Amino acid sequence: MPETPEHPAAAGRRFETVLIANRGEIAVRIERACRDLGLTAVAICSEADKEAPYGKTMASFLCVGPSNAAKSYLNQDAILLAARLTGAGAVHPGYGFLSENAAFADAVEKAGLVFIGPTASSIATMGDKIAAKRAMMAAGVPCVPGPDTALPDDPASIERVALEIGYPVIIKASGGGGGRGMRVVPEAGQLQEAIALTREEARKAFGSPSLYMEKFLEHPRHIEIQVLCDDHGNAVWLGHRDCSMQRRHQKVVEEAPAPGIAPDIIQPVGMACVEACRQIGYRGVGTFEFLYENGAFYFIEMNTRLQVEHPVTEMTSGLDIVQAQIKAAQGHALDLAQGDVACEGHSFECRINAEDPDTFLPSAGVITHLALPQGPGIRVDTHIRAGYKVSPYYDSLIAKLIVHAPTRAKAMARMCEALAGTEIEGIATNIPFLRALFEDHAFARGETDIHYLEQWLKLRRTAA
Ligand code: ADP
Repeated sequence: MPETPEHPAAAGRRFETVLIANRGEIAVRIERACRDLGLTAVAICSEADKEAPYGKTMASFLCVGPSNAAKSYLNQDAILLAARLTGAGAVHPGYGFLSENAAFADAVEKAGLVFIGPTASSIATMGDKIAAKRAMMAAGVPCVPGPDTALPDDPASIERVALEIGYPVIIKASGGGGGRGMRVVPEAGQLQEAIALTREEARKAFGSPSLYMEKFLEHPRHIEIQVLCDDHGNAVWLGHRDCSMQRRHQKVVEEAPAPGIAPDIIQPVGMACVEACRQIGYRGVGTFEFLYENGAFYFIEMNTRLQVEHPVTEMTSGLDIVQAQIKAAQGHALDLAQGDVACEGHSFECRINAEDPDTFLPSAGVITHLALPQGPGIRVDTHIRAGYKVSPYYDSLIAKLIVHAPTRAKAMARMCEALAGTEIEGIATNIPFLRALFEDHAFARGETDIHYLEQWLKLRRTAA
C-alpha cells in the first residue's frame, strides 16, 4: 500500500503511546490495533479490574480509582494524570464511559494530547438531538417527520405541532440519551401530561428542559451506517448493519449487511451520511442510526465513537476499523476511496453477557471453565479467561462472538455451531437464550422489527 502523504494539519498529532481509558473486551481490541500499528498501549483500571489478565500485556496498567466507575473510568482528572505518568500522547476512550463526552475530548486536547475520536464540537453537536437533526436535514439526510426546533411553551402551539405531524408522536428530550427522556403519545388527550412529565424528567436528568417532537414509527427496523473520515475532507461509508434485535433498547444481536435492503435504496442514504460528515468536519469513525419502515430511512442519532458492533463491518469489509480510527486521529489521510470499499458475505455478532438466560439478572463470579469456538469465519473478542472473576460493577458484556460466511443462511448456521461450541462455567450466561433465538424461523427469514425480540420473549415465557 502506498504511503499516505503527509499533510501540514498532521503535524503535532503524531503519537507513540496510547492510553486506553476503558476496560474489558474493548480495551483488548484497542490494544491489538495499537500493536498492529507499532504503537505502545497503556491502560487504566479500577480497583475491581486490577487483576484483569489484559493488564499484564499493557506496557503500563494504572489503577485510577475505586470500583465505582464514577470515581475511576469517569474520573477525568485521574485519567489525564495517568496519561501524563505513562507518557501517553493520545487517549482512546473506547465506547461508553467518556467516549461521547465533549468536555473530556476538549480537556484531553487542551492537555496537549490527541483524543482518538472526533472534535469536541462534533461530539457536542451530535449529542444535542435537535442540533443533530438540524445538521442532518441541512446535509440531506432523511429524518423522522417533525420540526428541527425545540417545542414552544404554550399548549396550543404544541398541539398544532402534533396535529401537523399526526398521531402517534414521540416527545424527546434534546439532551436525552440511553433510551431515557422519551415518551410516546398515542392521541391528543394524552399530549399535555406527556409534555409536562418529559420536561420535568429532562430538567432533572439532563439539566435542560428543551424538548422536541417527531412522528412515532410503529414497526421500524434499526439500520445503521458506519462511516470513516479523516481531517482532510475525505469520508467513506462502510456498508450497513441491522441491529433490530433489541431488549429494553439494548442491542443483543447485530448483523451486516441489513437483510433485504436493495443497494439502490441504501446507496443515497450512505452518500448523504458521507456528505453530512464533510459538512460538519467529522473525523474518525462514527455511526448514523436510522429507523427503517415501509422502504424509507429516518435518521435518529449519530454515535460519535467506535461501536460495540463494529466487528460485523470489519468482517464484511475486510477493514480494521480501530486501526483506521487511530490513523485518522494521527492526521493521516484515508488510504481508501469509496470505490475501494467492497463488502462481501454476511456477518453476525452475538453479545455474550454474564446474566441469567431467563431473567436477564446479572451474574457475577469466577469463570471456572472456558472453551471458545474456533474455525474459519469465527472470531471472539473477549477479555475473559478461566479463573477470571466477573465483577458486578460494570456492563455484563463478557465476550462478542462474531461469524462470517458467504451467505446469511450459512452465517446463521455457523453462529449456531459457534454458540454450541462456547462453554462458560461458574457464572450464568445468555448463551441458551441466544441459541434458541438462532433457531427462530422469523429471524431466519430476516426483516424482523425492533419489537420482535420483546414479543418473542413474552411468547416464550407464556409457553414455559
Ligand atoms: P437514545 O439516544 O436515548 O438512545 P434514540 O433517539 O436513539 O435515543 O432512540 C432510542 C430508541 O427509541 C430507538 O432505537 C427506537 O427504538 C426508539 N425510537 C426513537 N425514536 C423513535 C421514533 N420516532 N419512532 C419509533 N421509535 C423511536
